[in-house]
Amino acid sequence: MEVYKFGGASVVNAQAVKNLAEIIKKAAQTQLLIVISAMGKTTNKLEELSNAYVFGQDNTHELLEDIKTYHFDIITALFSDHQHPVYNDVANSFVEIEWLLEEEANDAPDYIYDQIVSIGELLSTKIVAAYLKENGLPVSWVDARNFIKTDNTYREGKVDWDKTSAEVQKHLKPVLEKGIAVTQGFIGSTSENFTTTLGREGSDYSAAIFSACLDATAVTIWKDVPGVLNADPKWFDQTEKIPQLSYHDAIELTYYGATVIHPKTIKPLQNKNIPLYVRSFLHPEGEGTQINGENCPLPVPSFIFKVNQVLISIFPKDFSFIIEENLSDIFNLFHQHKVKVNTMLNSAISFSVSVDNDEEKISNLISDLSVLYKVKYNKGLELVTIRYYNQDTINRVSTNKEILLEVKSRHTCQMVMKDKSALE
Ligand code: ASP
Ligand code: MG
Repeated sequence: MEVYKFGGASVVNAQAVKNLAEIIKKAAQTQLLIVISAMGKTTNKLEELSNAYVFGQDNTHELLEDIKTYHFDIITALFSDHQHPVYNDVANSFVEIEWLLEEEANDAPDYIYDQIVSIGELLSTKIVAAYLKENGLPVSWVDARNFIKTDNTYREGKVDWDKTSAEVQKHLKPVLEKGIAVTQGFIGSTSENFTTTLGREGSDYSAAIFSACLDATAVTIWKDVPGVLNADPKWFDQTEKIPQLSYHDAIELTYYGATVIHPKTIKPLQNKNIPLYVRSFLHPEGEGTQINGENCPLPVPSFIFKVNQVLISIFPKDFSFIIEENLSDIFNLFHQHKVKVNTMLNSAISFSVSVDNDEEKISNLISDLSVLYKVKYNKGLELVTIRYYNQDTINRVSTNKEILLEVKSRHTCQMVMKDKSALE
C-alpha cells in the first residue's frame, strides 16, 4: 500500500490536474491512497473569507465568488460535458458555505475558521477524483473526516491515534484493496463529527498519519522542486539536491524551518520505518530525495533562513540571576500566547529568544512579560540555521551582517543577524 501526497501547487489549474493524472496512470492501480491539498492559494483565500465573516465585513460575497470562479474555471477546462455530476457536487459544497455566511457569526472564530477553510480540500479532491475516474482509473472519493479523528482544538486538531488507526484499518483498507482512494489533507473531525484542521500546511502530516495507520510501504510527496534541497532557492542562488536523508536530519531541518515538508510529518513515518520520497511533479522521472532510517550524513551543509524575526531579551527587574523558576514562568507565558521559540540562549542575568514577528501576539506577550521582567527587543532580524556547519559556511551567510546571537551544538549553528546596512 502506498500513499501519494499532492500539494496546492500540483493542482493549481487544469493543466496541473492533467499532469497529476499522468503520474497516477503510471502508478499501481490499486492499493494507492492519494492525499490532496486545496488548489493553489485557496486556503489563503478561505482564510480571508473566514476573517471577513467573523469581523462582519461586507465583502464576504465577493470573496466567495472569487473562489467559486477559480474552481469552476478549472472544472470547465477539465470536463467538457456540462452535465457531469462534478458540477453539482462542487456547487453543493459552495451552498454549504453560503448557508453558513447567512447566519450571524456567533460561534468561536477558530471553530468557524475550520468549517470554512476545510472546504478547500473538499473541493479539490472532488474535482481531482472525478477527473481521474473520467480517465478510467478505479478511484473512490473518501472523506478524510471519517478517518482522521482529533480533539476539539480548532485550527490545530490533536490526532487521536487509536481512533484514527481503528477507522483506517476497518474502513479505508478494504477500499484500497480494490482500487485507488482520493482523500483530503489537512482536515479531520472531532468525536462529535465537527470538522477540524491540523494547522497550516498540514496535508503532509495527513499523508503521514494515513501511511502510519495503513502500514504503507512508502509515501511520496510530490512537489515543484526536484527533492529536498540544501537551501530554499528563494534565498540562495546555488542549491544542491540531497539524494538521501536520514529521518533524524529531516526532523532537524524541518524543525528549524525548512519548509519542504511539514515538521510533524517525519516522526510517524520513522516510528513505522516507512520511507518518504520527495519528488518533482514537473519531472516525475527524477529520483528525488529518499528519507529513511539509514544513517547517512548530509553530503553538503544545509541552510535554513527565517526572516522577520524579533529577538527578545528578558532580564529580572532587580538584576538577580535567571533561574529555573523564572524560566518556567517565562515559558508559560510563551505557551499561553502561542509564540513558538525559534532559538534561545540564556546567561546569568538574561534569557534571549528569537521568534517570528506576529505583531499582535508579540506585543501582547511583551506586555505580559514586562509585568515581572525588564524586556528589550530588536525587530527586523533574520535567523539562519546551518546544519553541518563550518567556519566557511558561517562566513558565507554572515557577510555584511552583525551577529546578535549565536547558538552552536555539534552539528547545528544558529545565528540571529541584522543587516549592517540597516544599522546605519
Ligand atoms: N491547504 C492547506 C494549507 O494551505 C494545507 C496544505 O496545503 O498542506 O495550509
Ligand atoms: Mg499548501
